[in-house]
Amino acid sequence: MNLKLPQPASASPSGSFVHRRFPSPHPAAAPNAPLASAAGPMIFMPKITNREIRLASRPDGLPTVANFALVHRELEPLPDHQVLVRNLFMSVDPYMRGRMNEGKSYVPPFELGQTLEGRAVGEVVESRAKELKAGDAVFSNFGWREYFMASPKELRRVSRELHPLSVYLGALGMPGLTAWAGLNLVDVKAGDVIYISGAAGAVGHVAGQLAKLRRCLVIGSAGSMEKVRFLREECGFDIAFDYKTGPVVEQLNVEAPEGIDVYFDNVGGETLEAAISALKVHGRIIACGGISAYNEKTPGPGPANWFNVTAKRLTIKGMLVRDWLGRQGEFEKEVGGYFRAGKLKSHETVVEGLDQAVGAFIGLFAGKNTGKMVVKLA
Ligand code: NDP
Repeated sequence: MNLKLPQPASASPSGSFVHRRFPSPHPAAAPNAPLASAAGPMIFMPKITNREIRLASRPDGLPTVANFALVHRELEPLPDHQVLVRNLFMSVDPYMRGRMNEGKSYVPPFELGQTLEGRAVGEVVESRAKELKAGDAVFSNFGWREYFMASPKELRRVSRELHPLSVYLGALGMPGLTAWAGLNLVDVKAGDVIYISGAAGAVGHVAGQLAKLRRCLVIGSAGSMEKVRFLREECGFDIAFDYKTGPVVEQLNVEAPEGIDVYFDNVGGETLEAAISALKVHGRIIACGGISAYNEKTPGPGPANWFNVTAKRLTIKGMLVRDWLGRQGEFEKEVGGYFRAGKLKSHETVVEGLDQAVGAFIGLFAGKNTGKMVVKLA
């Protein structure tokens, strides 16, 4: 059954968005009562009506709720060697916008009429597989739905010791790995002056804190004075400015008159052009994202000052987080260690309920999030 989705949460953000910060881990809360146990004989499970979000149409510019459909579907009985998972948190991320388009890219497009995918953390509520038991917390790529069935090899068990479990979608998940990988990619080191755009977002606020831990001078830009305060006071950025209050190039000239060594690009467009101007000779660029153009029907021309790349002998390195999955263990050791020691804060904007997920996603393009945008499902 297809239902009309409610208005995006971005239309009334104050009522739907909760900001929270996690300076250090707390003991895990008791897991929600499992519906059934893995061991022993089959236990009667009431039929579950699952809710999931599908792609209804491809967007033309900024996505709208009309591009999505909320579908109710009764789940089949759980097959052997599979587990039933109830999602607790799901992620919405800017890269999903690219997957809504048709055509070839570095990830395949979402299929029309199919349930969307994305990272999620859930809890096993019924198991017919020996590898996992009811109550286990698992990470998956089966977001945008309340329940799903999968085989254990499609899931990764995560520790319930870290609280909240949504940290596996943020600082200790893909955005955190992206931040860490970006710094390693261009060998960010003590004394570097680094400028991070999109700094108050999921990747940016972790990148800035990690750069501080490497004893860099850290400059960030974000889209409101509240975010600027967050960067300075809660994330320890040395300098932060609101890119909406004046041309970025002018603000960088004021804040970093000697120039910058590294630019961590999450935004592209005019911000990239400004950073190219501010970079010193032999400066480095981490080409991570370009959200300013994700909804453009016709992308604008590239930076007008491109010849600076030659004149200043700049290094630009493109970065895809999936190339770094092989270093996940190293990342977890280092960044997880900072988190456990209270040296790294993971900030989240939490939206509650699957029917708010579309609004949360669209809200990314209006800067509705501070830190990682997550949707709490249970
Ligand atoms: P964020 O949590 O930062 O959310 C997006 C933020 O972007 C918003 O909060 C908003 O903040 C800002 N924004 C939105 N529109 C614009 C605009 N037109 N100009 C400038 N800023 C804008 O997202 P993530 O941290 O998850 O991702 C950041 C970037 O990194 C994205 O470009 C993403 O695609 C990229 N990325 C790349 C990866 C890779 O492997 N290369 C992996 C993960 C992410 P504000 O209020 O400041 O405007």
